[in-house]
Amino acid sequence: MSTGKTESDGERLRAADPQIADLVDAENARRDGAVSLVASESVSTPAVRAALGSVFGDKYAEGYPGHRYHGGCEVADEVERLAVARARGLFGADYVNVQPVSGSTANQAVYAAFAQPGDGLLSLSLRHGGHQSHGSSANFSGRWFSPEFYELDMATERIDYDRVREAALYYKPRLLVAGASSYSRHIDFAAMRSIADECGAILWVDAAHIAGLSIAGIGPDPVAYADVVTVATQKIMRGPRGGVILARAEHGEALSRAVYPFLQGGPFVAAIAAKAVTFAESATDDYRAYARRVVENSAALADRLTDGGLRVVSGGTENHLAVVDVSALRLTGRAAADALSTAGIVVDKAVLPFDPEPVNQGSAIRVGTPTVTAGGATAADMVAIGDRILDVLASA
Ligand SMILES: *Cc1c(COP(=O)(O)O)cnc(C)c1O
Repeated sequence: MSTGKTESDGERLRAADPQIADLVDAENARRDGAVSLVASESVSTPAVRAALGSVFGDKYAEGYPGHRYHGGCEVADEVERLAVARARGLFGADYVNVQPVSGSTANQAVYAAFAQPGDGLLSLSLRHGGHQSHGSSANFSGRWFSPEFYELDMATERIDYDRVREAALYYKPRLLVAGASSYSRHIDFAAMRSIADECGAILWVDAAHIAGLSIAGIGPDPVAYADVVTVATQKIMRGPRGGVILARAEHGEALSRAVYPFLQGGPFVAAIAAKAVTFAESATDDYRAYARRVVENSAALADRLTDGGLRVVSGGTENHLAVVDVSALRLTGRAAADALSTAGIVVDKAVLPFDPEPVNQGSAIRVGTPTVTAGGATAADMVAIGDRILDVLASA
């Protein structure tokens, strides 16, 4: 049956479900009416959205190309092979898995492939910029494995690799985790590699946030150093929500089995098609120019906020985000984020390293520039946004 394109997708949705159509319109209006500095988001490209909404959303394709449990997978096989080939070229990895439905699921597969319940891991503390899936007690990773955490240096607010080494040699973790959600400095993956070698750990880089910069040649490349790297395509890369696993060839079989059938059933073939689109788009000069501007804009915003009297954690940023201390204004991070939201600037509340406030208040906000940069913002625009933030917080 053909689905003739006589009416637009929006019109069809409105005819079938006006309530959801209204909410789609409301979300578009919310986005158009606000400046989003949510560091983990960007704007998916039109081609990514078209692939996501394509007929592949209907296809069941449990298994891997050439080895599926469902009939009619020959075209889906081509999609997945193409996505894998493109990712291999883009990231320079031997093994690629494009099936994880999210970054967190990709991370689960790393545990499943490399560790047994009870095994140790060493990761950056959540309160110092880490991620739930790196051993938080509220997450399966903290419940089923034995996490130890390293913290940032109190003076520099950066990772102290000597202390990571000491902890690694003491705890001898199965997994050494490098990667963060809220850290504005490059991570020294070469140093992490040598620590992993000294203590006999698997080096896992969770590059969910920064992969979109590494592929543009901005910042260090984790693939050259890590045993396994996990990526989220919805962040800087402007792709669909989804995860990717990259690894050395020797780990491929264990990772494939960990994703399917250990964790997942049928993959989201439409999301895999959209990831393939993202990998092609991310290899262009246009993408690299965008990624460069993301970092330039982040520096411009951090500089402006610093000039305006706010303290940026670690003294600045080398990537797409900055963590900004608002305690001098006698505000919590939550109060600052609320005041900014009312003024049309969307940020995340955040905690400082060694923050005296509880996590749900915090003393900081986290600001990031992928979304505004995708919308065309320049460094001059970031100065204006910085001024607006300073004004709003001064009177909050
Ligand atoms: C965002 C993020 C993820 C992935 O999260 P999902 O929402 O599951 O896609 C994983 N690790 C880190 C460090 C992140 O910041």
